[in-house]
Amino acid sequence: AAGTIAFLGLGHMGGPMAANLIKAGYSVIGYDPVPAAVEAAQAHGIPLAGTAAEAAAGAAVVLTMLPSGRHVLDAYRGIGGEAGLLAVAGPNTLFLDCSTINVTEAQEAAAAAIAAGHRSVDAPVSGGVVGAEAATLTFMVGGEAEDFDSVRPVLEAMGKRVVHCGAHGLGQAAKVCNNMILGVSMIAVSEAFVLGEKLGLTHEALFDVAAHASGQCWALTTNCPVPGPVPTSPANRDYQPGFAGALMAKDLRLAVNAVEHTGVAAEMGPLASRIYDSFVEHGGAGTDFSGVINTIREQSDH
Ligand code: NAD
Repeated sequence: AAGTIAFLGLGHMGGPMAANLIKAGYSVIGYDPVPAAVEAAQAHGIPLAGTAAEAAAGAAVVLTMLPSGRHVLDAYRGIGGEAGLLAVAGPNTLFLDCSTINVTEAQEAAAAAIAAGHRSVDAPVSGGVVGAEAATLTFMVGGEAEDFDSVRPVLEAMGKRVVHCGAHGLGQAAKVCNNMILGVSMIAVSEAFVLGEKLGLTHEALFDVAAHASGQCWALTTNCPVPGPVPTSPANRDYQPGFAGALMAKDLRLAVNAVEHTGVAAEMGPLASRIYDSFVEHGGAGTDFSGVINTIREQSDH
């Protein structure tokens, strides 16, 4: 995609992602309303606009990396009588949303963009701040094949895997399904370690068996919730994230919305969502989501 990329939302993820686009030779103009984000962007050499509309006017791609679907829809349509991005962008602009939002909100955003004469792609990411900085993110993409082809090089400048998942909203669908597996499996692994402790089984013994048996999964062998078996897992650094509890709780709420919207008879995802909400209420928001093992241990009978 030749032409300027308007990059809206220069927070923990957006800041380093925009910096990687510049490194790859793209012309970027950024905007964020928060002074701390603006300062960090300036330190990264990201050119800034005074308003979101100023950034979007004349851009070939309008990329959003915002906290929630509400922020994306409000930015697209405008709030408080202010013109939205869909109104100020030139005809046939590519609206590329990389935020993690509800599947239904992504479909609504795409329909609004298309109705305004634009193109739309949802491309949520996994890989966290570390992946954003190292340009190793995975992008899960929903949208038309030809729009996917035109944003692929832009996404490849910020990530290492770019997967076309299907129509509008299906990037978000892939993200919520993956994170529902992750949230549930981390609780399962944590419960097993605490049960092992009560039964007198060492962490090492359980790990040596399960890591090479049918209990093997990412939550066990990469992000192991107990210190020791996997030296790089957050448990070894007092559960510093990693992937923060607040973000897992957010992603599981999106999964539950999708479960309710589709009427799927899912029990584990909604249960995991309640468990992480409680983890967040009890101080887990800023710690790695694997810290949920401590809540399970604390709530167990002695
Ligand atoms: P963040 O809060 O650090 O950044 C969001 C930024 O958007 C903020 O700086 C905010 O000021 C800005 N913003 C809000 N409204 C705006 C507007 N109208 N125009 C321009 N900027 C606006 O959040 P983050 O951690 O960077 O996450 C961004 C998105 O990525 C979220 O949807 C999150 O769920 C998702 N995500 C985050 C991670 C992670 O590890 N942090 C991983 C994967 C996905």
